[in-house]
Amino acid sequence: MQISNDIVPAIIIGSGLTGLTISDILINQYKLKNITIIDKNPRVGGNSIKASSGISAAGTQQQLNLQIENDSNDIFFEDIMKSSGKSKNINQVLIEKLSSDSKSAVDYLHKRHGLKLDKISKLGGHSVRRTHKSSNGIPPGFEMVSTIEKNILNQLDDDSTEVSFKMNTKLINFFINKKTFLKEVTLMDIPTGKTFKLKTPNLVLATGGFSANKNLIGKILDSEVSKKQTEDNNIIPKKLILAKLETLPTSNGDFATGDLIELLLGKPELSCQFKDLSEVQIHPTGFIDPTEPNALNKILAGEQLRGNGGILINPSTGGRFVNELDTRDRVTKGIFDQNLENDTVYLVLSEESGLYNMDTLGFYMKKGLVNKTTAEDLFANDEHKIAKFVSEIKSYSILKDDRFGRDFKINNFKDTFNEKSCIYIGKVTPILHYTMGGLAINEHGLVLNDKNKVIDSGLYAAGEQTGGIHGKNRLGGCSLLESVVFGLEVGKNIGESFAK
Ligand SMILES: Cc1cc2nc3c(=O)[nH]c(=O)nc-3n(C[C@H](O)[C@H](O)[C@H](O)COP(=O)(O)OP(=O)(O)OC[C@H]3O[C@@H](n4cnc5c(N)ncnc54)[C@H](O)[C@@H]3O)c2cc1C
Repeated sequence: MQISNDIVPAIIIGSGLTGLTISDILINQYKLKNITIIDKNPRVGGNSIKASSGISAAGTQQQLNLQIENDSNDIFFEDIMKSSGKSKNINQVLIEKLSSDSKSAVDYLHKRHGLKLDKISKLGGHSVRRTHKSSNGIPPGFEMVSTIEKNILNQLDDDSTEVSFKMNTKLINFFINKKTFLKEVTLMDIPTGKTFKLKTPNLVLATGGFSANKNLIGKILDSEVSKKQTEDNNIIPKKLILAKLETLPTSNGDFATGDLIELLLGKPELSCQFKDLSEVQIHPTGFIDPTEPNALNKILAGEQLRGNGGILINPSTGGRFVNELDTRDRVTKGIFDQNLENDTVYLVLSEESGLYNMDTLGFYMKKGLVNKTTAEDLFANDEHKIAKFVSEIKSYSILKDDRFGRDFKINNFKDTFNEKSCIYIGKVTPILHYTMGGLAINEHGLVLNDKNKVIDSGLYAAGEQTGGIHGKNRLGGCSLLESVVFGLEVGKNIGESFAK
């Protein structure tokens, strides 16, 4: 395709892992010039940069290196299907692509960007250990974002016109010119408030989710709950989320407001199809900072802490109450069912698990979110609770058949565990974390209308912005995966359109 000087070949809205992956492919593989990446945030990376547990994938070389040989695309596909509940909106073609392209996604990060991804955890709802991060202690989201950004910027050294990051710049509107098929995009430079326009044949919406926009979540849930529907077969009823919404904290950055969802809901002429907008993930474990217990923004206690040995304890009984490696919706429901003040429970790690997780735990300890202590101190010499806790730990460690069905235990507590043994603990509570719903797309990342037809052959969406993959519950590590799998797909499609 021929492009004139005042039109850019692609505009990518959002500089999270999705937007960066697409940009990398276009710039470094297809050698396209003037790719424009827009983000309203001053900093590159969106929520992607915060990811702490890793990227899930099946059949990787990294798994084989650790003798994890019992995984396959089919098992991964089944795990995603099972976790997604009975959402009628899921698109099996997308799930098929997500699972079967997962190895290539990890290969892309490993071979092209040099990420090791050699530490593998088993997260809730996965039947196999398959969530990868690097063993160098660098948080996975930061490692992915900063490395890809660097590899894009390296290209800039050769020719500074090849790519443009426009930070502090917000997409406020766009329309599709039906004659030219160009997408005419209105952007605002946030510091000055000035607006300007750009045109492109390829507009990619990669603006993430909306877990920091309680107004939007409240409106969507309200309309869903008030609809005359008798069944809500969600593990956590939507009515319950709505009732707790005001006090629920979030793990997301302030930018996760779903501007594009609101914009497109107000554009009936495009007839965009939305899937599962009311499916909101409440992650079970956000750290409670003792200096700010009621803060509405919390640091996530990543699921890998449970995957690598952490258990959950009811502070008022000293006992466990749930399979910590069940899906997030079930674990969160387990916490809500304890009816504790502020839904606060303890995340407890053995000494061995603490050491194994020290790459992340060290940071949480510095922040005062996790302490090294003993049962005696934790329960302030309440003998009844101490005895319950110690016997709980012993039976958890010894019994083969876990009473809550947990089937994967590593870094266990020692046989000699007693009230004076070392433990690591943090106070945690459920937090708004991820929006499963969004724009309907096809397997090439093209946005679909309400008749399942592609709206425009150059209008793409990918990443958390989209719906149809995770249904009622997203599995851990599948969001970074979605960003890379569909980022690579969209990048390839746009790149190929210029190669023709
Ligand atoms: C604390 C935390 C930990 C997580 N851990 C994991 C994990 O271990 N594994 C995993 O798979 N997932 C994890 N997730 C989820 C995952 O990080 C995100 O869902 C995923 O990275 C989303 O990527 P994205 O590129 O779609 O969006 P994002 O990375 O959120 O990027 C979207 C960008 O779009 C920009 N934007 C939004 N609206 C506009 C607008 N109108 N104009 C211009 N720019 C706009 C935003 O500023 C943002 O920078 C975690 C999430 C959080 C919050």
